[in-house]
Amino acid sequence: MEQVIYLDNNATTRVAPEVFEAMRPFFCERYGNPSSIHSFGGSVAADVEKARCQIAELLGVGFRDRDGVATEIIFTSCGTEGDNSAINAALNMRPDRKRIVTTAVEHPGVLSYCKYLERQGYEIVQLPVQSNGSLDMDDVKVAIDENTAVVSVMWANNETGTIFPVAEIAKLAHAQGALFHTDAVQAAGKVPIELDETEIDFLSISGHKLHAPKGVGVLYVRRGLRFRPLIWGGHQERQRRAGTENVTSIIGLGKAAEMAKEHLDREIVELSALRDRLEKGLLERIDCIRINGDLEHRLPNTSSISFEYIEGESILMLLNQFGICASSGSACTTGSLEPSHVLRAMGLPYTAAHGTIRFSLSRYNTQADIDRVLEVLPPIIERLREISPFWQERQKNG
Ligand code: PLP
Repeated sequence: MEQVIYLDNNATTRVAPEVFEAMRPFFCERYGNPSSIHSFGGSVAADVEKARCQIAELLGVGFRDRDGVATEIIFTSCGTEGDNSAINAALNMRPDRKRIVTTAVEHPGVLSYCKYLERQGYEIVQLPVQSNGSLDMDDVKVAIDENTAVVSVMWANNETGTIFPVAEIAKLAHAQGALFHTDAVQAAGKVPIELDETEIDFLSISGHKLHAPKGVGVLYVRRGLRFRPLIWGGHQERQRRAGTENVTSIIGLGKAAEMAKEHLDREIVELSALRDRLEKGLLERIDCIRINGDLEHRLPNTSSISFEYIEGESILMLLNQFGICASSGSACTTGSLEPSHVLRAMGLPYTAAHGTIRFSLSRYNTQADIDRVLEVLPPIIERLREISPFWQERQKNG
């Protein structure tokens, strides 16, 4: 197979070689259980705590307890677990309140859980988005009332990269006595996060989106909150998340966070330059395309582009023949030919929503990758439009 050009980094990322090296000793040499009394296992606990601090640094969390532990960071198995745990804990902390405010464009980690909670008697308010994927703050203000237990709004959308004003929304939630959670799975490591400067109560992230392995995540819980776990069992994570720690992956996530923090400023510049090169190049070469999302408040690595009058899945299949990996929506909706819930919430016309491709970049992409897409994609679009009845009709009608 020819070399892969991987432009699907919002689905998952390559484990950084440095991360892999940091993890390596913890598989076959230092494999002890951090809860053990013996020092072979117990010494591993110090490495887990180091990783916790590395993540706290990435998230702008300065608090350390008397033992130097960043206690506001809890390790989880994934972003979805963090989302579920935060909402579950918030509902337990506000037992008399029955309303949950979220958005129509959240990941299923929030939306599916809210659907379940609706069946348990909660009222779910899904805030609509505007055509560029952003929220109308007046809607937000109206939706959060004195019956609201928790507000959950993502930091950045996985499909369009649109960034939401979460610090501002956290203040609005608190003004009504509600708690605030943000799903920062797509934001961590891509944009600056300074949690100490916000009122955010809960924040979830996932390792595999920032060059750590799959199957590890973090939930930040602001200190002082009476957190109620989702998973009960042993005493791990100060009794807030039972189950033997996924030590190797935790070490990897710590290293990945350290690298993300160190290179953040440079990567923001480099990734947005690559993204802009891609978008400008495609706009110059192809008619009837549109860039989706809030172009002023957007992740540097994400580009959602609608190629009107054709099917996104056909584009992906032809790109695949050239070893180019992209996505036609979120990873979870790929496989279905229906436009994703995000594009539907934005009200994209049918002919645009169906032809939408998400390119998501990482530090491992180069200008040569982008130039290859600019070479390969225009003829693909031309070929597909030639056989598209929608395109033919449009041409006929001028
Ligand atoms: N939230 C967002 C915004 C995501 O993009 C994803 C994964 O795509 C998740 C949550 C779920 O993360 P995980 O796969 O670690 O459960």
